Amino acid sequence: MPGHTDTVASASASAHRVVVIGSGFGGLFAAKALRRADVELTLIDRTMHHLFQPLLYQVATGILSEGEIAPPTRDILRRQRNTRVLLGIVETIDLTARTVTSTAAGTTTVSRYDSLIVAAGAGSSYFGHDRFAEFAPGMKTVDDALELRGRIFYEMAELETDPLALDAWLTFVVVGAGPTGVEMAGQIAELSRRTLKGNFRSFDPRTTRVVLLDADDAVLASFGDKLSKHALHELEGMGVEVQLSARVVEVDARGIEVQDADGSRRRIEARTKIWAAGVAASPLGRQLAEQAGIAVDRSGRVPVQPDLTLPGHSEVFVIGDMMALDGLPGVSPVAIQGARHAARQIRARMSDRPAGQPFRYVDKGSMATISRFRAVASVKKIRLSGFVAWLAWLAVHLVYLTAFKNRFTALAHWAVSFLGSGRSERTSTWQQVVARTGLQRLEQMEASEPDATRPELGSKDR
Ligand SMILES: Cc1cc2nc3c(=O)[nH]c(=O)nc-3n(C[C@H](O)[C@H](O)[C@H](O)COP(=O)(O)OP(=O)(O)OC[C@H]3O[C@@H](n4cnc5c(N)ncnc54)[C@H](O)[C@@H]3O)c2cc1C
Repeated sequence: MPGHTDTVASASASAHRVVVIGSGFGGLFAAKALRRADVELTLIDRTMHHLFQPLLYQVATGILSEGEIAPPTRDILRRQRNTRVLLGIVETIDLTARTVTSTAAGTTTVSRYDSLIVAAGAGSSYFGHDRFAEFAPGMKTVDDALELRGRIFYEMAELETDPLALDAWLTFVVVGAGPTGVEMAGQIAELSRRTLKGNFRSFDPRTTRVVLLDADDAVLASFGDKLSKHALHELEGMGVEVQLSARVVEVDARGIEVQDADGSRRRIEARTKIWAAGVAASPLGRQLAEQAGIAVDRSGRVPVQPDLTLPGHSEVFVIGDMMALDGLPGVSPVAIQGARHAARQIRARMSDRPAGQPFRYVDKGSMATISRFRAVASVKKIRLSGFVAWLAWLAVHLVYLTAFKNRFTALAHWAVSFLGSGRSERTSTWQQVVARTGLQRLEQMEASEPDATRPELGSKDR
């Protein structure tokens, strides 16, 4: 049947076959680190791009285009002759047969491996309340950022005639005061105060209410007391309402319900909610752990050996956001350094050199932007804030953005947004806003009534 061919990814009998799952920071850097190795490498991802997640919020708020932060993986690796890039959702990893089974649009591919690097990352966690996702999308993928872009740009507010309903359209709630939440809240405040001036006739965007909520009692808690307080001060100065020790207990289309530290509940009427709290590792982690006879941690991450291998399987590496080791955070340097470590181990084994060395993480610090020209950075014992931190942020992101042409165009877009007040990438479509929930509903309908959703040729409703 067309579209349902089972194939086995070809491999010559002698070459060492490496399969990498994921083209994010872990997967891409692992593949690159093996570019000169005598291996036959297959990189599988459910998307066609390598996504620079730290700049997703800039796609959502119209600063950058999705192409600038998500170049095609096969283009990045085009000169790497030992590597084949495959589109596919990995569904099964069989540790006994040493195979990875993936599907793409009905085509199933089975890839055999001698070494496996699993870097499938993490998704949003709603802490057991997955129903919140319908109304408060997370920010993990290009689709998420484009959906948020469509939700953020106020079109419905211009149509609203009821003042109370208008307030709800002009209220934005960001859940989670980590770097992503702070960056989103700061950008929405900036959009409303600077960028959208003069765009609307029935309301003034400067009256927008931006609420940043967290169950914790600090913003950017992982940056330490001084920078956390600085960030709070900056956010409040920009008009962001920061509400701490506030736990989200319900989310619906029209608002959000919050429980404060004293146990009391209140409601915020807000049409646009953004979920930037909590992550859960890829479900592939659970699959690996079950086969290896171990348990994942609370975030679904796989406890790995000090050399990043799966216990009992020295041929399988789990890296990046999927691994649990020594409390290392889910940040890109952990994924990149882990990827290089796994590649070194594979090369060592292939040339009969000693392998199994423990992974040593070099912490290069962390940074978060609050708005244009304002950021915080923590590098070893140095704490930076304000313009200097923002310059450091700019330099680091320019260096790490993949592909020279992306750096060039990103710089141009930053100039438009930071020196001027414009946003070059505001285009969004209704389809981007409704596609996620529409597809989910269709899948549910198909599961319950398989015939109900099939279009009939010649039907009147075509
Ligand atoms: C909004 C946001 C902002 C961030 N900001 C920062 C920051 O400022 N600094 C920082 O250091 N870190 C930041 N991070 C964290 C950083 O992006 C991650 O730690 C890093 O991406 C982890 O790399 P990874 O390779 O483990 O996973 P990812 O980069 O997430 O890559 C996982 C890949 O696996 C693919 N995949 C998943 N499941 C499957 C499957 N079943 N089949 C096939 N493919 C699959 C995905 O499509 C994806 O390409 C941010 C993350 C987010 C979401």
